[in-house]
Amino acid sequence: MKFILSLFLLVTLFTNAQNNYPQDYFGNPLEIPVILAGTFAELRSNHFHSGLDIKTQQRTGLKVLASADGFVSRIKVSHFGYGKALYISHPNGYTTVYAHLQNFAPNIEAYVKKLQYEKESYEIEVFPTPDVLPVTKESLIAYSGNTGGSGGPHLHFEIRDKQERPINPMLFGIDIKDTTNPIVDAIYAYPLDQNSFVNNSNKKQKLRLIPLKNGDYTTESIEAIGTIGFGIETFDRQDLAANSNGVYNIESFVNGNRIFEIDLKSFSFDETQHINQLIDYKHYIEKKERIQKLFKKNNPLTILNSDFNNGFLSVEDSTNSVYKIRIADYKNNESWVTINIKGSKNSIAEPKPIKTTPYLVKTDQTTTLKKESVTVDFYRDTFYEDFYIDFDVKNDTLLLHKDNIPAMKSFNISYDVSNYNNEDINKLYIARLVGYKNNPLYIFTKRNKNSLVASTKTLGKYALATDNSEPTISPINFKNNQWLSNYRFLKVKIDDRDSGISNFRATVNEKWILMEYDYKTKTLTYDFNDGVVTDTKNNLKVIVTDNVGNNSTFEALFYRK
Ligand SMILES: [Zn+2]
Repeated sequence: MKFILSLFLLVTLFTNAQNNYPQDYFGNPLEIPVILAGTFAELRSNHFHSGLDIKTQQRTGLKVLASADGFVSRIKVSHFGYGKALYISHPNGYTTVYAHLQNFAPNIEAYVKKLQYEKESYEIEVFPTPDVLPVTKESLIAYSGNTGGSGGPHLHFEIRDKQERPINPMLFGIDIKDTTNPIVDAIYAYPLDQNSFVNNSNKKQKLRLIPLKNGDYTTESIEAIGTIGFGIETFDRQDLAANSNGVYNIESFVNGNRIFEIDLKSFSFDETQHINQLIDYKHYIEKKERIQKLFKKNNPLTILNSDFNNGFLSVEDSTNSVYKIRIADYKNNESWVTINIKGSKNSIAEPKPIKTTPYLVKTDQTTTLKKESVTVDFYRDTFYEDFYIDFDVKNDTLLLHKDNIPAMKSFNISYDVSNYNNEDINKLYIARLVGYKNNPLYIFTKRNKNSLVASTKTLGKYALATDNSEPTISPINFKNNQWLSNYRFLKVKIDDRDSGISNFRATVNEKWILMEYDYKTKTLTYDFNDGVVTDTKNNLKVIVTDNVGNNSTFEALFYRK
């Protein structure tokens, strides 16, 4: 009896450990089954994904429902990022987030539009008090869309706790069918330093991966000496879609003892950028493949748990050890990788020399680099590790290493432009040169007396660029002097070749009209249902300004009755 009781207790404890969160409180925010295009904490560019990407049958306009009772506590409309996003606070302290929406439910839409017309801005952010927009579970709050940085129609859904930390929504009992094991794409071995070697090399080694009949994996055996770690490329697939999504948990073991864990239940937005130190960043920049390192070196991420030696193992001569990796999805489908390691002095080889330059950037110091007209300032703790930086300036082109080392803080690049005349300075901006064609990409540039200053987290090539061309504006679905009585929308295409669009303003008969901007299609859209166009003869005026201040004005007449 005692035994059964303690077994029961154990099972209860285990279940609670898995489910510390209210179950069945939050419902499906769509009327269709949850099928995922993206999982929580999967690896994205400079961040972990903070929610679930729920598929919407490749369509926009699906009804989005409140996941539980509460009130709309925040609405944000932005050109980029989440696009149109709605936040609902719930009495239990959690907040749900719905993003990339096409539009809001009628009462919320009216509230948002009133504010947009008051502020004369498409982009707004507002924090309504609980009495303004209360919602009940499963009530209509919005329609799904593809706004902001979304690459296809879907609903981005999040659950956040009181500290604004996103938590895996699946921990709240949202059920997703998944009966297959995570898939391993590649395994790498990393010697930690100049005195550590794998297979006679102290560069990282890609290991030959051997799939086993039961779905697990092994690799070729390795010979090593010194301190080494491993990295993995892995993904998971759910049953109802082919999307390659993120896994839920990765653990590593040496001779049966767990040494390291990547635990993707929850994280905070201030730490999400440290993903760049979890993945092999250089490999990612060069190959676009994300290797997760199963060891921790100068990485403050709280999702990493180290039981021993930050996930590294020390390999001594004439020893045999077994390193295992367990990869699990949320449904606890697991895949194992087994790596046999033979410790051998024979693996010692000539160490790879460290490439030096005259400029050592130390993380615990500020560093200033200066040549010709360019000054670069790194604050303390801009980088995770000390390194020798490549630095040179030739004819206003700054060579600032390669973008293969991640920065956790922005640094300043400043150009002395006192030898330019004032008129020319006004058309100058700091650009990062991207791709093999060195295309100039505008970096937000401030003028400070005789300097232009830009702040960035990306190393690479920079230059001063000039934008002398005005933005272009052209009508999409109408012509000058046209009758538009039966039209629902007015669409205009806007573009800017060099520095890019900074802002726009549209009026009809001098009255501001709300035009929604979709940067992906470069389209401005006015909805006649807004009801602000009431005259028969209408003069549309659109002014677009680029990032250095060049502007264009487009005017057209149209008629309605
Ligand atoms: Zn998303």
